[in-house]
Amino acid sequence: MAFTLSGDDVCQTALPTSIPNPYWVAFSPSSAKLAGITIGKNKLPEDQAWLAVLSGNQLNTSEHHFLNPIATVYSGHQFGVWAGQLGDGRAILLGDLAGQELQLKGAGKTRFSRMGDGRAVLRSSIREFLCSEAMHALGVPTTRALSVIGSDLPIRRETIETAAVCARLAPSFIRVGHFEHFAALQDRNRLKELADYLIASHYPECLKSAAPYLDLFRSICERNAKLVAQWQAFGFCHGVLNSDNISVLGLTMDYGPFGFLDQFQIDHICNHSDQGGRYAYHRQPQIMHWNMACLASAMIPLLSVNSNENEAQEQLRTALEAFPVTYAQAWQSLFRKKLGFVSSQDGDIALIERLLQAMHDSRIDFTNFFRSLGAINTKTSIQQINLRNDFIDRIAIDEWFTDYIERLKAESIADSDRKEGMNRVNPKYVLRNHLAQTAIELAQKKDFSEVNKLLMILESPFDEQPEHEAYSFAPPPNLPLVEVSCSS
Ligand code: AMP
Ligand code: MG
Repeated sequence: MAFTLSGDDVCQTALPTSIPNPYWVAFSPSSAKLAGITIGKNKLPEDQAWLAVLSGNQLNTSEHHFLNPIATVYSGHQFGVWAGQLGDGRAILLGDLAGQELQLKGAGKTRFSRMGDGRAVLRSSIREFLCSEAMHALGVPTTRALSVIGSDLPIRRETIETAAVCARLAPSFIRVGHFEHFAALQDRNRLKELADYLIASHYPECLKSAAPYLDLFRSICERNAKLVAQWQAFGFCHGVLNSDNISVLGLTMDYGPFGFLDQFQIDHICNHSDQGGRYAYHRQPQIMHWNMACLASAMIPLLSVNSNENEAQEQLRTALEAFPVTYAQAWQSLFRKKLGFVSSQDGDIALIERLLQAMHDSRIDFTNFFRSLGAINTKTSIQQINLRNDFIDRIAIDEWFTDYIERLKAESIADSDRKEGMNRVNPKYVLRNHLAQTAIELAQKKDFSEVNKLLMILESPFDEQPEHEAYSFAPPPNLPLVEVSCSS
């Protein structure tokens, strides 16, 4: 059952506003399967009514009738500052589909639109669509994307662009910001209703606990700590880790100015609007921890029923302290795998850190380096390792490769088996910004072939796809940098 709470001020009935002459831009058969939508021969839904439904122009197909579309209220901290009430300003929850909530992003104004137009542009909708599906294929928890529907309706951003609606799926879109909202209003009843709903629907294991709310908090922290470790391991920068963009299911959500690292730079900032670098790559773990502290603070009233407020605070503080520990364990385990280590040894972390420092100093391509590392033969001499040639400080990297090969020998695993294992964790294909940009520019000219081709390639990110080799290349050095900002 979709998330609903009592009270009109919380979940507002929100009807989508139609768009003129909608057309398919992209569609994910894999998400359709998840939602139980039957696909026809043309790889689009068999029931053509879906085009109208997913564009917000109609509320029923032959099988489904979405009776009560809603927009929900939430608040949040944006760039570290309390922003007060926000809410689904351009997302409308249509209802449930096979246990997933179906949400239309960009389907027009809701009561929470504030100064916004309730719309999303084609560019950002394609980016969200592709990245949601790419992250899923990488094995990173994420909201999913079902479709992008375009329209020639003009939308004003820095320039005039055209409108699109991205249909998203998730078991729930509840955010840290939902908790913060009711905490800020000191509305303990709604806070409890929200937590009880979340436990019953998504964390049933907490029901058995003597302290269900504390356990709920612990589980949310654990999921998000593991999530951010995965982001780091794939070189993914979210770009806007405001508390209203943080899922309480530990899903990557609200794709905006995200980016996968091309050249490795530890303090890379992917969001052009983030001048202070609050959401830089290396700060993501710490920022997620900070967001969990916001959640802890919002949950104090829930825990202070059976204990006093000081005790509740103490319990939550202790639970919050587990975050960096869970994160570090997850990060270490992922990077050991990236380097092909099956066992754990004392010097591993120092070895990983030395490598990352050298990669940073020489701005090495993150995805391609790890992918190529799998091909190293423990019997070759260091001078024969081509990867070393990309590093500026040859002496340092040669020392590193010497130590790395020594370490690999301790694994007693055949080179070919190690390579196979490494290729299952080090992707060949990620959604690099320049690839998304090419697909977007063609789509803006009504050629959607590249969006759908990228979707297909990114659905198998760990496979060698010789015919698509060029999609694994780093961006050409003369290519102007794609700047992505909060404007979408
Ligand atoms: P975001 O930065 O996309 O996470 O959005 C932050 C808040 O602004 C959320 O409450 C959004 O619903 C709202 N918002 C963003 N863009 C628009 C828009 N074009 N129209 C209405 N609300 C918007
Ligand atoms: Mg958001």
